[in-house]
Amino acid sequence: MLSKDLLDALSKQVNAEYYSAYLYLAMSASADQMGLKGAAKWLFAQAKEEMAHGTHIYQFILERGAAPTFAAIELPMTSFADINEIFKETLAHEQKVTKGINAIATLAMKESDHATYQFMMWFVNEQVEEESSATEILDKLRFIGDNQSMLLALDNELGTRVFENPFPDQED
Ligand code: MG
Repeated sequence: MLSKDLLDALSKQVNAEYYSAYLYLAMSASADQMGLKGAAKWLFAQAKEEMAHGTHIYQFILERGAAPTFAAIELPMTSFADINEIFKETLAHEQKVTKGINAIATLAMKESDHATYQFMMWFVNEQVEEESSATEILDKLRFIGDNQSMLLALDNELGTRVFENPFPDQED
C-alpha cells in the first residue's frame, strides 16, 4: 500500500507533469508564432510526452490500489521573447522537475517502498535525457547567435522529431 506521503507526492507529480505539458504547449504556440515550425513541432511532441508521463504515474497510483488527489493546474509562463528564452526556460524547468523526481525517489527509499522506488528510476533516467537534450539545443543556439540561416537549419532538425509514446499500452 502507498503511504499517505507517497500518495501525495505522486499525485503532485501527476499534476506537475500535466503542468509541464501545458507549459510546452504554450512554448509550441509561441514558436509557431515566431515562424519556427520545426521547434513548434518539437515542443508539441514534448507536451505529448509530458502527458504520457503524467498518465503513467496516474496509472501506477491506481495499480497500487489508491486514488490520486487532484488540484488545479497552475498557469505556466505563456509569452517568450525568442527561441533562446524558450529553451532556457525548458532547461530550467527540467532541472526543477529532476529535483521533484529525486525527492519522490528519496522518500520511497526512506519508506522502503521498493515498488515505488523502482518505478521512479525510469523517471530518474528520463530526466538525464531531458536535461541533456535541452542543453544540447541551447548550446547549438549559442553557436548560431543571430545567424538566421543556421537557425532555420536547426529548426528543420528539430522538426524531424517524432513523438513515440514510451508507454504504448496507454493507447489501448
Ligand atoms: Mg516529464
